Parts: sequence; structure tokens; C-alpha cells
Amino acid sequence: MDSKLDNMKISVLASSSTGNVTYIETPQHKILVDAGMSGKKIKELLDSVGKNIEEIDSLFVTHEHSDHIKGVGVLARRYGLNVYANEKTWQAMMPKIGKVDSDQINIFDKNKVLSLGDLDIESFGVSHDAADPQFYKFHHNNKDFVILTDTGYISDTVEKKIENADGYLFECNHDVDMLRNGSYAWSLKQRILSEKGHLSNEDGARGLMDVIGENTKQVYLGHLSPENNTKYTAHETVATFLKNHDMAVDHDFYLNDTDPIIPDDLIIL
Ligand SMILES: [Zn+2]
Ligand SMILES: [Zn+2]
Repeated sequence: MDSKLDNMKISVLASSSTGNVTYIETPQHKILVDAGMSGKKIKELLDSVGKNIEEIDSLFVTHEHSDHIKGVGVLARRYGLNVYANEKTWQAMMPKIGKVDSDQINIFDKNKVLSLGDLDIESFGVSHDAADPQFYKFHHNNKDFVILTDTGYISDTVEKKIENADGYLFECNHDVDMLRNGSYAWSLKQRILSEKGHLSNEDGARGLMDVIGENTKQVYLGHLSPENNTKYTAHETVATFLKNHDMAVDHDFYLNDTDPIIPDDLIIL
């Protein structure tokens, strides 16, 4: 039997400041992390990687910003998913997503590990201007996949928790010069650049340098701002930075781009 049959399968279905959804599959679970697009769009994205939305059992929400929760209410009502988020995120999200059945509401607090059959999920807090933002490390069959976007900086505690994972979806939100010279109001620029904002391409590169280890094989550069970044700029900035620090990009591990509306191919981690 092909041992890879038992591995975690992942597709970053959509990633940018305008909407985020990631699909993760194990033999026992098919889950989504965030649902920051309409239910209809998420169904289309899943269809295009050959997955049936009816088979999704759980949804893990990181925080209540609309680019992460736009489809949460519709998916919960239509497909009966178990939805997981911490208490403050639930409080902030409830008024925005409409009615969700109480038995689908699951409280999953920060710095906890949840075991769901063949999938363990570890939550950790980040520095971002939401009620109580948290991201996740997914563990199955000796492999770890970490999602970390929407944070102004990476604390030492988070760095320890996520180092040497097999795969990452990591934030490269903006190019600092593009943001400074761009059309956003100064207050919004300040927000994005602040400790509770988003990681720039350079911040993302530095963070990756600190956490990538010998297990790391796949890195997705995510949550790009369509206004203040391009795939090319993010990719080149991170690749150049890592190569300048003697890391074997495209050899020991791969840097993958993500797209606001086109899913990445399903990978086997
Ligand atoms: Zn976001
Ligand atoms: Zn956010």
C-alpha cells in the first residue's frame, strides 16, 4: 500500500487580504481553516480541486475579520459543519454571521491542543487588531502544517511552537515601499505597519528563516495585499533573503505562491 495514502493533503484555496480559505484532509477528516469568501465561491473552489463541500466536517476560524469569516454562517447552516473558534472570537463574530445552531458552536481557546481522531490541532495567539486572534498547527501522521498570517510580529513563544514544521502558510502581506507610497490613508498604513497589523515581505522572510528546519518541505507565501504587493515581489524578496542566509530554496524546500481566487494544487505533505 502506498504509505502516502495516509498523509495530510492540503490546498490553499484562496489567500489574500480579500479572502482566505485553506483545505486540509486526513483519512478521518476534511476541514477548512477560515471561510473568508461567499459559500458559493468556497464550493466552487473545492470543486476545482476535486473535493465535495458536503464532506467537510469542521471549520477552524482564526479571527472575526471579514476576509476570514464571510462564508462561516452560510457554510454552518447549509452543511452542518462543526465550527471552532475561541470565546472572544465567537462573541465578535456572532453578530456578523447570522444564526448558527448551538451544537455546531465549539469553543477552542488559545494555547490548547484539540485531538479529533487522527488530527491534532494546536492553537496559538498572534498580535493583530481583532478580539482574540489565533492561528493553528495541524498534526497528523508525524507531519505538521502551520498557518500563520494576520500578525504584526512573531513572538518567541510562537516561534518555538511552530519551528521545523513540514509545511507553512506564512504571511507576506505587503512590500513596505509599495504600502508607504500607495493610495491607502495614512491611518490605514499605520495600522498595517503596526505591531497589531500584518507581516511585510521582509518580516515574513525573517520569520521563515527562524522557523524553517530540516523537516520543512513546502512553504506557501500568503495573505498578499492586492494593492501593496505582487506575487513576484513577495517571492523574490523571500527567496533572495533566504538564499542570502544560506538556505537551499527550491532544493531543501519549495516556496509556493498563493492567489486570491485560484486554488493551489492539492499537495500531499
Ligand atoms: Zn486577514
Ligand atoms: Zn485580520
